[in-house]
Amino acid sequence: MSLTKNEFDAYFRCTLDSCGKTYPLSDVVYTCENDGELLTVEHDLEKLRKLSAKEWKDRFDSRFRSQKFPFQSGVWGKKEWVLPNVADENIVTSGEGGTHLFDASRWAKDLSIGGLYIKQCGISHTGSFKDLGMTVLVSQVKQMIADGVPIKAVACASTGDTSAALASYAAKAGIPALIFLPANKVSTAQLIQPVSNGAKVLALETDFDGCMSIVKEVTKEKSIYLANSMNSLRIEGQKTISIEITQQLGWEVPDWIVIPGGNLGNVSALGMGFEMMKELGLITRLPRIILAQAKNASPLYDSFQSGFANFQSVTAQKTLASAIQIGDPVSVKKAIRILKKFDGIVEIATEEELADAAARGDKYGLYNDPHTGVALAAMLKCISRGDIQKNDKVVVISTANGLKFTEFKVNYHEGKIIGTNAQLQNAIIPCKASIEAVLNVLGSERTFHK
Ligand SMILES: *Cc1c(COP(=O)(O)O)cnc(C)c1O
Ligand SMILES: [Zn+2]
Repeated sequence: MSLTKNEFDAYFRCTLDSCGKTYPLSDVVYTCENDGELLTVEHDLEKLRKLSAKEWKDRFDSRFRSQKFPFQSGVWGKKEWVLPNVADENIVTSGEGGTHLFDASRWAKDLSIGGLYIKQCGISHTGSFKDLGMTVLVSQVKQMIADGVPIKAVACASTGDTSAALASYAAKAGIPALIFLPANKVSTAQLIQPVSNGAKVLALETDFDGCMSIVKEVTKEKSIYLANSMNSLRIEGQKTISIEITQQLGWEVPDWIVIPGGNLGNVSALGMGFEMMKELGLITRLPRIILAQAKNASPLYDSFQSGFANFQSVTAQKTLASAIQIGDPVSVKKAIRILKKFDGIVEIATEEELADAAARGDKYGLYNDPHTGVALAAMLKCISRGDIQKNDKVVVISTANGLKFTEFKVNYHEGKIIGTNAQLQNAIIPCKASIEAVLNVLGSERTFHK
């Protein structure tokens, strides 16, 4: 690929400022060969400036939810900003992105804030935002295989959702997938997805962090390509979440973005999306970011207490928010850079708080998974503390589909999650099939709750 030939360009760059070594996107490389730091995908902004901010907005708007390949995908509708030089025939897409921005105006009113929107990233082919990154990574791999790079398989460690996304996109492309899951730590729905898509699934007797160190070893063999978010191609797809949110708000930036974090790739991605929009003049200010962790897996919260002066990994404890049960996040340095730049806050949720917040949101028509529950709980804390103020507009990132977490939902309403708010539980009422019995249950007052 010559630099002059392409209309737009992107390459990997080392995240260590004093190094800055670059690599072509077609290299099988995840960390810098000089210093071991993570890479980031950098775009040639001069080339992107050939279009004005208005021209980019118009172009993105004209493609949004289009029927025209590959723009059915919210990610590929922003192709020039994501992976400009992949050939159309190598794009592997399942229509990811373009998800609904749920307007929870009734809840916003009850909370006395200016606006509350839940970005439904879990309404996606495999049920989580991981599809947004995986379409980019698998498309690049398909391009590399077409160009003769000897890749035999793609591999990942996962707390459930990454493996579901990788297995599906790899199966669509006809590329073998190898999955490492922590045994007995993911939901049944998450586990059966990669199994159904024909991936080789290994359940390791360890936690996610243990799976991550195994997959790093396995992918030292360059014919097995690493699909975890330490591979910054994933971040490029996930970056489109912030562009889409801004677009859906009429190119207005919200005051706050709240996001649940585990390996901390997604918060880095969201930040980079806003940075890029600002660089290219589509927006003039940045939102503040609240990164939400489960208390049982909160090493970044601990670090935030010292203004990120130091960071110590932990052994994550069991949490209902199983996809963020991570004690040694790979993208921690990227996340800290973003949080500092976006005047960020790190907040935590206990098991009770995350379960209650998910259930409270459900009463406004949502159907929240436990990770979105963590983000909603963090938001509620920031409202009561006064960080989020009266007229502020808040966007919460919902990372997975609640349908993947049926056990969690059932247990909540059966009162099996200790310490939760019983008033939010909604028990099923057994009743004889007679009008007398029904009227008896309804009572003479005929009172209903919202
Ligand atoms: C992966 C995942 C997260 C965490 O994203 P990171 O990039 O690892 O911080 C949160 N929620 C769900 C449902 C996920 O699958
Ligand atoms: Zn370097």
